[in-house]
Amino acid sequence: MKALRLTGWKTDPELVEVPKPTPGPGQVVVKIGGAGACHSDLHLMHDFDAGMMPWQMPFTLGHENAGWVDSVGDGVVTVAEGDAVAVYGPWGCGKCGRCQQGAENYCENPAAAPVVSGGGGLGLDGGMAEYLLVPAERLLVPLPDGLDPVTAAPLTDAGLTPYHAIRRSWPKTTPTSTVVVIGVGGLGHMALQLVKATTAAMVIAVDNRKEALELATRFGADHAVVSDATAAEAIKDLTGGRGADVLLDFVGAEATIELSRAAARPLGDATIVGIAGGSVPLSFFSQPYEVSIQTTYWGTRPELVELLQLAARGMLHVESTTYSLDDAPRAYRDLQDGKVRGRAVIVP
Ligand code: NAD
Ligand code: ZN
Ligand code: ZN
Repeated sequence: MKALRLTGWKTDPELVEVPKPTPGPGQVVVKIGGAGACHSDLHLMHDFDAGMMPWQMPFTLGHENAGWVDSVGDGVVTVAEGDAVAVYGPWGCGKCGRCQQGAENYCENPAAAPVVSGGGGLGLDGGMAEYLLVPAERLLVPLPDGLDPVTAAPLTDAGLTPYHAIRRSWPKTTPTSTVVVIGVGGLGHMALQLVKATTAAMVIAVDNRKEALELATRFGADHAVVSDATAAEAIKDLTGGRGADVLLDFVGAEATIELSRAAARPLGDATIVGIAGGSVPLSFFSQPYEVSIQTTYWGTRPELVELLQLAARGMLHVESTTYSLDDAPRAYRDLQDGKVRGRAVIVP
């Protein structure tokens, strides 16, 4: 079968021929219906130095996957051939305290996991291929009726990651609150819809692309602000001088982290999700009082179950453009050039 593989750090991926996987005991092979192209893959191709992540090359890209069960190994009982499934992406040990709660994104025994701090497409073979080997049946979530794999694939990361970040700030999202979404791409366009669907807060979208701000307005942002040196002032003006209660940064550059803390309301949450690698000095006075500056990584399996329900009930629209597997390199070029609206999804 064909697969889009990363063969080294700071290189572009290659389309190569690899053997179709067969499931061992407890394992499942999924026929891929959709595999999303995440900006994190661009960081792997361009920004990460060897040794930053404890992963061996080569591996097949694609960590946002959904499809149909193709074959199951001995002992698998919860899924059967033909079932439509989403793949929960962070693959932990399955046994530690966090994994037992379904938070394999924060596995506490990574040495016993299939790969350290990763999963399919992040250190192990992912879904940008015709088939994906999933190491354990617990990592599959059945698709609710009405949700197809092309729609579900981006939900497993571009949806789940913002859902997790928003969910932990729910107590701060009252009808008098403001949530700021910085970066309205794959993750951000879902984030602002998720704020709208699950809270009564006002939403301000921030991006430096005109098309992204138009998309944000279409998906219900109350205000759209251009990402420049005046953005913090604009957010203050829109909030009666108070600042925003929750800021979700889907870029993570120095400028956007600075924006978050400058535009935060005392007691607010500034959550860094993007991994552009920006850093800023921290001190007692570098942000308003009692602002929590935090990072989040991916989300939990129970949150993915909730999110799939939300999408199946039509409360969340996944904006996507599909590409064939042969065209996957072009999908990443388009993502790099800021030409993708929402998510690029590879359909093998
Ligand atoms: P994307 O390319 O689809 O979207 C990024 C958006 O940010 C684009 O709309 C772009 O125009 C905008 N942007 C860029 N610079 C900006 C700036 N200075 N101000 C405002 N907007 C700006 O990317 P994506 O796939 O949505 O991923 C977003 C980030 O989140 C990436 O860094 C990715 O690696 C990271 N990520 C983190 C996690 C996690 O668990 N923490 C999970 C997935 C992705
Ligand atoms: Zn990702
Ligand atoms: Zn674990």
